[in-house]
Amino acid sequence: MCDRKRVVIAGLGDCGVLAAIRLAGHTDVVGISAKPGLVSGQELGWRLSRPEEWARANWIPFDRFRALDRVRTIHASLTGVDLAARAVFARCTDGSAVAEPYDALVISTGVTNGFWRQPTLQSAADVAGDLRRAHERLAAADSVIVVGGGAAAVTSAAQVALTWPAKRIDLYFPGRQALLRHHPRAWPHVARRLHELGVRLHPGHRADIPDGFGCDRITSGPVRWRTGQLPSSADAVLWTVGKVRPNTGWLPPDLLDEHGFVRVESDLRVAGRPELFALGDVAATDPLRSSARNRADTLLAHNVRAQFAGRPLRTYHAPARRCGSVLGVQPGGLEIYTPKGSTVRFPAWAFHRVLLPLVVGWGYYRGLRNNDPLTPATDSR
Ligand SMILES: Cc1cc2nc3c(=O)[nH]c(=O)nc-3n(C[C@H](O)[C@H](O)[C@H](O)COP(=O)(O)OP(=O)(O)OC[C@H]3O[C@@H](n4cnc5c(N)ncnc54)[C@H](O)[C@@H]3O)c2cc1C
Repeated sequence: MCDRKRVVIAGLGDCGVLAAIRLAGHTDVVGISAKPGLVSGQELGWRLSRPEEWARANWIPFDRFRALDRVRTIHASLTGVDLAARAVFARCTDGSAVAEPYDALVISTGVTNGFWRQPTLQSAADVAGDLRRAHERLAAADSVIVVGGGAAAVTSAAQVALTWPAKRIDLYFPGRQALLRHHPRAWPHVARRLHELGVRLHPGHRADIPDGFGCDRITSGPVRWRTGQLPSSADAVLWTVGKVRPNTGWLPPDLLDEHGFVRVESDLRVAGRPELFALGDVAATDPLRSSARNRADTLLAHNVRAQFAGRPLRTYHAPARRCGSVLGVQPGGLEIYTPKGSTVRFPAWAFHRVLLPLVVGWGYYRGLRNNDPLTPATDSR
């Protein structure tokens, strides 16, 4: 009699895929995903300005991951969970309903943010269409306003300026400086680079976001400022204001905190529910909800297995500041900002020939088959 445990991973984005890879082979793993592959929410600037290149590293159909061969993926949108019966429910593109029982459920449905992170059920052609439309919209603009002071805003301004040096790019943010959640040493460095790229910086501008506007499309009308300045206009306005909403509408409210994120203990188990875990942007681990970029997928996989085996679970320790890449890859390479304020630099050749194929491709993903999702026949996957 086989008593292999069954783990359902709800949401196969950056964290769900990593968790599935680390659990496959130890347990039966089923992943439920609204997208037909990993469509990463990372590196918005790169995605907008050079989508083909971005897609090779950040949009990876599931069948290209060797380590997911042992994982059953279901292309469907989660609709609910029965905690007593231990089953999740989802709906497929053809309208059919799915019910998947679990011994442990990993919630990794992330957040909705702008037009580039939407939880909608999409085909490969839909994903390709989104990438192309946003790129074409920016390509056609002579002037671009980027609103926001976080990493998504900064990388967008930098990468658009890098790809289209003739465009006028203005970055508006509310504080005296941007990147307030990073170490204070990060901003002067990043601001210098933005100046070199010709991006005009406008501190002290807080945008007036019209009621009902979800910041989920590129606009072209004037931007009004709550801080008193005259309105500003450009051919394209990119709203990267960090207006994130957790993708938790399918979960019972008592699992959620007051902002709708999943309440977790320091071992990533959902409070009061030892068979439920949460990981990534949806998990209320700490004020920065930092478990994605700090690779808590390894700890999560350990803890799921420890929970099954009755062994002690490990604790997630969150850093106090944001870290990671901010500007994205440039001709000079990639810079990673650490929580303690130092910078780690990878030359461009090392990023393309070592970091992506070896560290990410083998280290994180344990081997990828050839990946080029924007080549023709996207719908056949
Ligand atoms: C290894 C790593 C390195 C990182 N480095 C950086 C960095 O350098 N700089 C930086 O700024 N950030 C970095 N990040 C962080 C990153 O920007 C986000 O935090 C990360 O993308 C969040 O992953 P996630 O899995 O929580 O969400 P997502 O990747 O958004 O995944 C959620 C998935 O769930 C799906 N989903 C949602 N609702 C449903 C539903 N109802 N039914 C079915 N599917 C659904 C979504 O469509 C999506 O596919 C890094 C993250 C990782 C993992």
